[in-house]
Order: sequence, then C-alpha cells, then structure tokens
Amino acid sequence: MTLRVGLGTDVHPIEPGRPCWLLCLLFDDADGCSGHSDGDVAAHALCDALLSAAGMGDIGEVFGTGQPQWLGVSGADMLRHVHTLLRGAGFRIGNAAVQVVGNRPKVGPRRAEAQQLLSELLGAPVSVSATTTDGLGLTGRGEGLAAIATALVTDERLREEQTDTGDEGRG
Ligand code: MG
Repeated sequence: MTLRVGLGTDVHPIEPGRPCWLLCLLFDDADGCSGHSDGDVAAHALCDALLSAAGMGDIGEVFGTGQPQWLGVSGADMLRHVHTLLRGAGFRIGNAAVQVVGNRPKVGPRRAEAQQLLSELLGAPVSVSATTTDGLGLTGRGEGLAAIATALVTDERLREEQTDTGDEGRG
C-alpha cells in the first residue's frame, strides 16, 4: 500500500493571560494554552497525525522538551519542520483534518482563514472543525483545549517502485 493514515491528539491547560495561538492563528478574545511551545494544540495534533501516518514516531521524539532549540516554537514552524521531514523521507501529504475541542476561542468565524493557512503550510488540503463537550470534562469546564487530527500520506518511493515494476494498482 502506498497510502497511509495517521492520527494525533493533544491537550494543554489554559493559562489565563497567555496569548491564544490555535490553528496557527492568534485569537485576541481568548486565553491561550501553556506549554513548552506556543501551546497550539491543533498544530501539535496535526504534527502527530502526520508523523503517525509516515511511521516516523511522534512529536515528543521530534520536538523533545529536552531540546532547547524548540522552546517557544510556533505551531507553524513545527508543521513546516514535520512537512520537511516527511518530504525528506519520501512521503507526500494527501490531506489532513483537525478538530478542536473546547469552549473558546470560537473557531467557526476563522475556519476559512485557518484552512487556507494550514493548507499552505502543508501543501495539501487541511479541513478544520470544532466542537464542545457540553460543559463536561476539562474542556467543558474551560480548563484546557484539546485537538484530534488525522492525516493521509502517500509513500512516493514505494509508488515509484511499483510504477517501475508495473505493479501500480495491484498492491
Ligand atoms: Mg502539545
């Protein structure tokens, strides 16, 4: 198979007064999440989904908290780095989807903007959605934000091999 799916999740605590970076956008009307980086749970879930799809480990291995060069890193820079790693390993991103789970900020009004930005960063269509948990759990109480993501990648080296040997479509 040249197609591979991956999944990723992330949760961070909300820290009052901290800038709210989410989906690689700055939201002025909400508190952001604390973390070693900018706390962008959506970008982190997407990074994990992409690494998962490629079988290249997870965000903890690539951006370990013991590595000072990643302190305060933006979600956009993390996605750029993961995209570069995947391309270097012979993978191409087919598409990705991310869902934010939380009360605030409201994602809907900036969905189109987020989708365009994330799609540009990854060179592939990215779908953005959001939901709440009806007041339940840490996201419902406004204590944190969560995100869930999936990604589809193609193994271009395997695809080229199959094309060379006339196996395309039979694997
Ligand atoms: Mg994270």
